[in-house]
Amino acid sequence: MRILVTGGAGYIGSHAVKLFLSRGHDVSVYDSLVYGHRAAVPADRLIVADLADVHRLDQVILERRIEAVVHFAAFCYVGESVQHPAKYWQNNLVNTLNLMECLRRNGVSRFVFSSTCATYGIPDKVPMTEDLPQKPINPYGQAKLAVERALADYAHAYGWGYAALRYFNAAGASPDGSIGEDHDPETHLIPLVIWAAMGKRPHVEVFGTDYATPDGTCIRDYIHVDDLAEAHLLALEKLGPGSELRYNLGTGRGYSVREVIHTVEEVTRKTVPVKEGPRREGDPPALVASSERIQKELGWRPRYAELRPIVETAWNWHRGHPKGYRDR
Ligand code: UDP
Repeated sequence: MRILVTGGAGYIGSHAVKLFLSRGHDVSVYDSLVYGHRAAVPADRLIVADLADVHRLDQVILERRIEAVVHFAAFCYVGESVQHPAKYWQNNLVNTLNLMECLRRNGVSRFVFSSTCATYGIPDKVPMTEDLPQKPINPYGQAKLAVERALADYAHAYGWGYAALRYFNAAGASPDGSIGEDHDPETHLIPLVIWAAMGKRPHVEVFGTDYATPDGTCIRDYIHVDDLAEAHLLALEKLGPGSELRYNLGTGRGYSVREVIHTVEEVTRKTVPVKEGPRREGDPPALVASSERIQKELGWRPRYAELRPIVETAWNWHRGHPKGYRDR
């Protein structure tokens, strides 16, 4: 399949690109490199351009005879979205709508969208199934939900087939150590704990120890990036005219912040200096996916069902690339 991957030089996108190429797909990566990394994808696949540049998009879609789009390109900092909502509504919603119009003009009607568990807000129950009400509590989640709604309308009116994949906490790295997580700024727990273990940071701060969870810290469902990538491919292969696939993607097992720290200590065999701090605004106590629907409908299974092997791949990447892609 001739696939356009927007944001393909980013963390999750680059793992998806690697998988798609390994399965023989013809992949074009469209990335502004604002957050993505040139070294994360093969040079001959990369188009450096902004999603806002609709002329370039039109040209790429036409020239490369694109058949399907996997749309990762987005800003992904929840806290920033609260401070600068305009940036998120513009980039994550408006630019996505522009992309969708480009596709419509060019007759492309297969679309896989990076959505998020943040579209649910604070869930009434865990594990979370897809039929829970979607009530996002920040602009990041709101804009993602708005795109889901637009896609549903495009499916009904124009016969688009789309998948909205609602990721829980993406983690880990390619097991061969060639690509991995490199955010600037880094805000995610696992890399920050690893950095503290490596001495790259003086400590890791635990955001809140008074939650109503067994050890008082927040529980999240960490899913390996390669398992996420696989789900995109399965979804792409399944899409037909009018299909609407909406899936939660996690392992179904939650780990507390303290359990993550403990696992990193075991894997790295180093002590992680920890500082206990206040809660971070907007953090739900527990987010755990039920991924039964995608398991049943697409036969997807997480190959990394537990945290430890996920952390091992992350550690392998960070140990080999202490400065991330700047080491390359
Ligand atoms: N977290 C933490 N310290 C940090 C970063 C994150 O205690 O320096 C906690 C955060 O409160 C959340 C969990 O770790 O409960 C995962 O946070 P992350 O930012 O990695 O992902 P999110 O769940 O926000 O998407």
